[in-house]
Amino acid sequence: MNKTIAVIRGDGIGPEIVNEAIKVLDKIAEKYGHTFTYDDVDMGGIAIDKWGDPLPQAMLDKCLAADSVLLGAVGGPKWEGLPGPQRPEKGLLRLRAGMGLYSNLRPAKLWPQLAQASPLKPSIVEKGIDFLVVRELISGIYFGEHKTVEENGEKVATDVMLYAEHEIERIGRIAFETAMKRRKKVTCVDKANVLDTSRLWRAVLHRIKEEYPEVEYGEMFVDNASMQLVKDPSQFDVIVTGNMFGDILSDEASMLTGTIGMIPSSSLGDGTRGMYEPIHGSAPDIAGQNKANPIGTILSAAMMLKYSFGMDAEAAAIEAAVNKALNDGLRTADMMAEGCIPASCSEMGDAIAARL
Ligand code: NAD
Repeated sequence: MNKTIAVIRGDGIGPEIVNEAIKVLDKIAEKYGHTFTYDDVDMGGIAIDKWGDPLPQAMLDKCLAADSVLLGAVGGPKWEGLPGPQRPEKGLLRLRAGMGLYSNLRPAKLWPQLAQASPLKPSIVEKGIDFLVVRELISGIYFGEHKTVEENGEKVATDVMLYAEHEIERIGRIAFETAMKRRKKVTCVDKANVLDTSRLWRAVLHRIKEEYPEVEYGEMFVDNASMQLVKDPSQFDVIVTGNMFGDILSDEASMLTGTIGMIPSSSLGDGTRGMYEPIHGSAPDIAGQNKANPIGTILSAAMMLKYSFGMDAEAAAIEAAVNKALNDGLRTADMMAEGCIPASCSEMGDAIAARL
């Protein structure tokens, strides 16, 4: 197959981790006879510096013309003082909206080799951690109106949280379809005791659940869910939730599995073209030091092969190579443990590519 991949290296550790994912993709192309063509796209801080805009239209067009998009991470302290619309993260929000990527899948799975890196007690970890957060990505409070006004001599800020039925319906369907391929359990996480948007989520999901009688459906308030994730994460299979709750809970979930550096994600809309990125940010504290864990990005590339290109065997080969590297004791600094072999970002990429 010939596939064009728009590559957004971004800021901070972005270029380092994306380079390792490309190393692995090149090895896959060589082994399985595919051709991957990479089209570099500027987004985030680097685009602000070069073009004065976190996502110039020409860059979005490149992503829309590609078969899929691979992203490292964007943002950093250098651009933090800029006004909202000019910030690096705005580029990411515009990319998601411009590509119509409404569903964000974030798997939280414990690799047995990293069990001791989990902050949870062994008695909890032993029960297993393997769930998926299905997060709505292009609506809700991050996309509602944001404004700050002067009232009675002080500043007053508002952020509007808005959901339309069709936005809940399409993400709800993805959650139920995904659950059908897993352990057939969906938990809707919301704040229906306070928010109208949450009550609408529940009403729409009740309609959908009638079509999936095999799926066990439950609901949980977000404050309780954040507690249950720590108390007994084995109870979850598919969590479906809105944009902001999903953002927060999936970061919490990532820590349960040991390190945020291991978790990939996919963002998809109606077609097969998607955007794939690790769930962590640009980690400015370790940028440029060849210390970052590239596995979240490498596994994101594997998700791209599986979900956008239908290359199931190739994706499985990458996961197996990661597993072998971990079995052989290689660890980047974020997951280092006694008796293991320290690996830099590029050494980890080399090790995984060599095990393919
Ligand atoms: P972060 O995820 O970048 O870092 C949090 C902590 O995790 C840091 O200690 C960092 O060193 C560590 N970490 C993250 N990824 C790692 C990896 N691959 N290997 C080893 N350690 C890793 O979150 P933050 O510090 O809150 O944000 C930093 C910047 O990233 C901000 O500008 C933020 O807006 C941006 N951000 C971007 C994205 C994205 O591009 N999708 C997502 C989240 C945050």
